[in-house]
Amino acid sequence: MNNLFVYCEVENGKVADVSLELLTKGRSLAQQLGCQLEAVLVGYQLDSLAQSLFEYGADVVHVADDKRLYPYLTLPHTAIVNALIKQEQPQIALMGATTIGRDLGPRVSSALHSGLTADCTSLEIGDHADTKGNEYKNLLYQIRPAFGGNIIATIVNPECRPQMATVREGVMKKEALPAPKKGIIKKADVAKILNDTDFVVKIIDRQIEERKIDIKNAGIIVSGGYGMGSKENFALLHELAAVLGGEVGASRAAVDAGLAEHERQVGQTGVTVRPKLYIACGISGQIQHTAGMDQSAMVIAINNDPNAPINQLADYAITGDVCEVVNKLIKYYKKNSK
Ligand SMILES: Cc1cc2nc3c(=O)[nH]c(=O)nc-3n(C[C@H](O)[C@H](O)[C@H](O)COP(=O)(O)OP(=O)(O)OC[C@H]3O[C@@H](n4cnc5c(N)ncnc54)[C@H](O)[C@@H]3O)c2cc1C
Repeated sequence: MNNLFVYCEVENGKVADVSLELLTKGRSLAQQLGCQLEAVLVGYQLDSLAQSLFEYGADVVHVADDKRLYPYLTLPHTAIVNALIKQEQPQIALMGATTIGRDLGPRVSSALHSGLTADCTSLEIGDHADTKGNEYKNLLYQIRPAFGGNIIATIVNPECRPQMATVREGVMKKEALPAPKKGIIKKADVAKILNDTDFVVKIIDRQIEERKIDIKNAGIIVSGGYGMGSKENFALLHELAAVLGGEVGASRAAVDAGLAEHERQVGQTGVTVRPKLYIACGISGQIQHTAGMDQSAMVIAINNDPNAPINQLADYAITGDVCEVVNKLIKYYKKNSK
């Protein structure tokens, strides 16, 4: 049975979280398919990074290690990944929907005529019967919102290989194995694969902006929506978050209204979060928002509309004016927390 590839992105000398999340998911997909999970690592000085991928269940790590392969460059990375896919013929190839994945994925898939589903929110294995009566077993269900997020579509690719998909950071869980797998490292013959023409584009200057706001890893998120009404009211959420030791998130409507920075946006076109506690303040709970927070361990909704859709997802729904409730919470926690 052909294997499952995960392209592992290297970021500041580390494997990107999204790649580890995909390896974690890939582990269960590969188990269902009865195939091997194979990581593809492209860059420079990769020995310890390659070993670390066995902790996430890789059976094989394909390593393309060459000074010219770091930092990322479109053409050489495409050449390496294409060559490995042609050689190993995986049935599935996954990568992060990051800046690099969004550059690399379409190039690889168009060169291989395989197609690609971008920004999947879920991946599953299942069967498919087409309208001509053909039946296909064990396809990759590439699940993502479609038509402006109004439906969740399941996309299958019965005929072309590999079945390719990208997934955004934070959508899937990252989980190392209790003990690393005893896998093997296969070194790619980089010199044979690369051509001088792969280096016609040269990097003159490279600047990576540090993320100033990081809500993805927050344990508690106090998130505000359009119902907060004003910047002054929104500031209350910063106060509550500070008292609780959490971060502030926002809906797109709040971001569009200038109440919060874009980095705080939770949802389909924002960040996907899974905190222990998510407090949704003045947020209606449209699917594009809940797609980014419905994996939170506990959700508290504060809304003056008892029928707001967010209440259906919430563990606790507080009906009332958001500023009044948040002020009370700030007062209570200031008094009662150490
Ligand atoms: C392609 C696409 C992608 C999108 N991506 C995202 C995304 O990533 N993230 C996202 O959030 N949205 C996204 N959206 C937008 C989404 O559809 C909603 O429009 C948005 O989430 C609504 O934000 P909101 O809940 O803050 O505002 P509203 O829907 O306007 O809700 C405001 C809520 O506040 C309540 N309220 C008002 N006043 C008070 C008060 N005084 N006290 C208590 N409650 C009050 C109201 O009852 C209401 O429930 C996307 C849309 C599209 C089409």
